[in-house]
Amino acid sequence: MAILVTGGLGYVGSHAVKLLADSGRDVVCYDNLLFGHVEAASGSTVMIGDLLDAGKLKETFDRYAIDSVMHFAALADVGDSVANPHQYYSVNVTGSLNLLQAMIEHNVKTLIFSSSAAVFGEPEVVPIPEEHPKNPTNPYGRSKLMFEEILAECGAAYGIRSVSLRYFNASGADPSGLIGEDHTPEHHLIPIVLQVALGRREQVTIFGGDWDTPDGSCIRDYVHVTDLAQAHLLALEHLERGGDSAVYNMGNGNGYSVKEVIEVARQVTGREIKSVAGPRRPGDPARLVASSDKIKRELGWKPRFAELKTIVEMAWEWHNSHPNGYRS
Ligand code: UDP
Repeated sequence: MAILVTGGLGYVGSHAVKLLADSGRDVVCYDNLLFGHVEAASGSTVMIGDLLDAGKLKETFDRYAIDSVMHFAALADVGDSVANPHQYYSVNVTGSLNLLQAMIEHNVKTLIFSSSAAVFGEPEVVPIPEEHPKNPTNPYGRSKLMFEEILAECGAAYGIRSVSLRYFNASGADPSGLIGEDHTPEHHLIPIVLQVALGRREQVTIFGGDWDTPDGSCIRDYVHVTDLAQAHLLALEHLERGGDSAVYNMGNGNGYSVKEVIEVARQVTGREIKSVAGPRRPGDPARLVASSDKIKRELGWKPRFAELKTIVEMAWEWHNSHPNGYRS
């Protein structure tokens, strides 16, 4: 039996695929290569396909004996989602419904879903617990919340058990140095800052300096991608033991401002990193910091790389050795 990993060649997906493959599991990656890289497959089977291609999904389930699904494939850029909401709802909701349909038809009953801190919107309390009110401030977050809600109803109706993992800011790279973050175009803060350090960009723009935070820039909770991948394995084992559906927040519980991230990157790289002030990015909440007590308590999740400096060091190792990503 195999685990189907949608988006398995993308950033977070490929780190989970590597852990699955290292633990001796059979993995089938389903990826449209929009953000995925075949070099990131870690020896797994690859099906090139899109979530919106229901026929290709069916063919994949027909061909392989799938017993669980990890669903990473999505559009995941906050600013882009504000500009292109239809596309985000199509891929993240309709595409995910196609996947669910194929699971129902093939009697696959367990799913791990990549959700997001963006389901919360501007928090009322920080660190944010799972039950905090959900008021997404952008279509990306709303699309993730919609599918969480769909999963709750489908679980009850079709007996599908699921774990939704709400990532705060996935960052860093696998300790092996074999896989890391490579998006084109790149929108995320840490890779952009490191590209400035490498001389591939002139500067990083700080999106907003007038937020209600101590230094005026946005605060986020950066969580190492390998720690996130490990949480997927724990969630899979939980479902395999017959565990109930659950939703978990995934972060380190420490908030860092954009300016602090740039400062840590200066220390780690020893390079000048030019930053300039820019306008706020539409859809951004000021502050997102997780409480991840629930997954620690219930599934025994123990992040290995919780320090921001360690996360930036590991990201720097990847970017420095792969200045052009997987094409390096
Ligand atoms: N950010 C920024 N400049 C950039 C990219 C991001 O100031 O070039 C900020 C962004 O507004 C957010 C934080 O950095 O407050 C993290 O953004 P990212 O896109 O990495 O992740 P997100 O929080 O949107 O999931």
